[in-house]
Amino acid sequence: MKLLLINIYSTDTIARYLLSSYLLKAYLQKQFMDSEELTVHIFNFSCKTSIDIICNEILSYNPDFIGYSSYIWNIEHIINIIRKLKSCTKYVHILGGPEISLSRILPLSKESTGDYYITGEGEKKLTDLMSYLIGKEKNITLNVPDGIAYNKGDGIYYKEDKSFVKLEDVPSVYLTGVIEDYLYEKQQAFLETQRGCKFRCKYCVYHKQLPEVSYYPLQRILDELDYLIINKKISALRIFDAIFTTDLNRAKIIVRHLYKLKEKLSSLPFIYWEFEYNSIDEEFIELVSSLKVRGKINNCHEILSVNRNQIYTDILKDYTVINCTGIQSFCEDALKASGRQRINPKKFNEFMNIINKYNIVLKIDIILGLPCETFDTYFSGLELLLPYIKDTDHILNIHLLQILPGSELELLCNDYGIKYSIYAPHIIYATKSMEETELKRASILTAILFRIINSPLRKYFFKAKENEKVVDILEKILYALRCEFPGINLFNQRVDDNYWNNNIYRDIPSDWLKEFLACYK
Ligand code: SF4
Repeated sequence: MKLLLINIYSTDTIARYLLSSYLLKAYLQKQFMDSEELTVHIFNFSCKTSIDIICNEILSYNPDFIGYSSYIWNIEHIINIIRKLKSCTKYVHILGGPEISLSRILPLSKESTGDYYITGEGEKKLTDLMSYLIGKEKNITLNVPDGIAYNKGDGIYYKEDKSFVKLEDVPSVYLTGVIEDYLYEKQQAFLETQRGCKFRCKYCVYHKQLPEVSYYPLQRILDELDYLIINKKISALRIFDAIFTTDLNRAKIIVRHLYKLKEKLSSLPFIYWEFEYNSIDEEFIELVSSLKVRGKINNCHEILSVNRNQIYTDILKDYTVINCTGIQSFCEDALKASGRQRINPKKFNEFMNIINKYNIVLKIDIILGLPCETFDTYFSGLELLLPYIKDTDHILNIHLLQILPGSELELLCNDYGIKYSIYAPHIIYATKSMEETELKRASILTAILFRIINSPLRKYFFKAKENEKVVDILEKILYALRCEFPGINLFNQRVDDNYWNNNIYRDIPSDWLKEFLACYK
C-alpha cells in the first residue's frame, strides 16, 4: 500500500523540505522493513504552489493514504487540498504536526477535514496507524490505536496514549539516505539533537507535552555533522532543539567537534541554535567564539545601509553561529502569565557582558502582546535591552504574539482578554492590557525600530537616542514619516512580523532615515 507524505514548506526559509516527514519516513521504513506492505513517498511543495498543481500531482501518484505535516504557514492550504480531493476520491487523509491539537479537533463534526489526526510526536503513532489501516484493508478487526483522533462518521473519537518515541529508534535521515541529496547538499540542512523542552511556556507547543528532554545518541550527532559538513558541504545548518544547551556538557562536546571540523576545513557552514541566557557559562561562549571566521567583527560599523533586509547577508557575516536567545519580555507580570521565569537583571547583565566580551552574535527574541504586558512595560523593556545592542551586530527579533492551537494560552484567552485570529498564523490584535489601538501603535513603532536597529543605521539611532527615550524618538520618526511618505504600507496595511521583516525596508529609504537621525535634536 502507498502512503504519500505531503510537505508544504514556507517560502520564508531557504530550505525546500521539512525534516518531520523524513523522520517519519525513516521510522516507518525501519518498522516495515521486513514486509512489503507499505511504501512511503514524500512530495515537497512550496506554500505558494497552487492547490490544483498539488492535487494533480497527488492524483497521478494515486496513494492509498495521505499524511500532511501541518504548520502555521500551510494549514489553510492543506484544508483546501483535502476538500478538493474529497470531492473526487476516497483517499484516507491523516493530519499531524504542530497545528493539530485536540482543542481544535474534538469539537469538529462529522464534516471534519481529516479522517485521522495525530497530535504530538508522530513517528510511533503513525506507524501504529499504518499497521491498523493495512490490517483494515485485509479485513482484520483491530481498534484504532490510542493517541489517534479519528472521524467515525458521527464525530471525533480519541483515547489518550502517553507513550513516547525513543530517539535512538529514529534512524538518521542523512546517514541512511532517506532524504534525497539534492534537497540539502551544498544548501541548508536541519538537525534535531534532542527533543522536548524543560520549560512550559504557555504560548508554546514545542515541548509536545513530552515529560522530559530526550537525546539522540551523541556519536550519531557527531557522525551526522561530519557527513553534512565534510561530505555534503552544506552551506547552513539549523539545529531545531528548543534549547541546544539543555545539557551544557554535551553541547560543549558538539561545539568542540565543530571546532575540529573548522580546523580541518578552514570554514564552517552558517549554524543556527537556541539557548537561554541562564543555561550557558563563559567556557561555552568562548568555544562558540572559536568558530568565528575572524577575530573582532563589527559589521554594522563596516557596511552601508541599503533598502533591503541585510540581516543574514551582511550583518551576521563571518560569525558562523547565530545564537538565538528568547528573552520575550522584561515585564514580570507578562512573564508570569506566560509561565516563564522572571529575568534576573544581575545574571542577564553578566550574560550580555560575556557575550559582548567574546564578540559572538545573538538573535534576541522579544514578543509583543504577551498577557499583562502594557504599552509602557513593553517599551520600558526595550529601553533596558537596547544599550546591550549598541556597538554590536545583535539582531532584535520581535514577534507579535500568536495563539497556537493546543497551547495553554489558547485556553486562557478569555481571562486575558486576548483577541486573535482563529486562522493561521493566529496573530493577536488586542489583549486586556493592550487595546487594539495601543497594540496597533506599538506594532507600527516596533516596525520602525526593527527597520533601524536591524540595519547599519543603528549607530545613527544610538547617537540620536543619547538623551531620549526609545518610544519618544520612534514617535518623532513616525510623525515625520506621516508627513513625508503618507502612502507607504506602514499606514495602510496590517503591520506585523511579516511587514517589518520585509516591506518596511523598501517603504522607508535608508538615506532618509540616516539624514533624519543625523540631524536629530
Ligand atoms: S518557548 Fe522555548 S523555552 Fe518556552 S517551552 Fe517553547 S521551546 Fe521551551
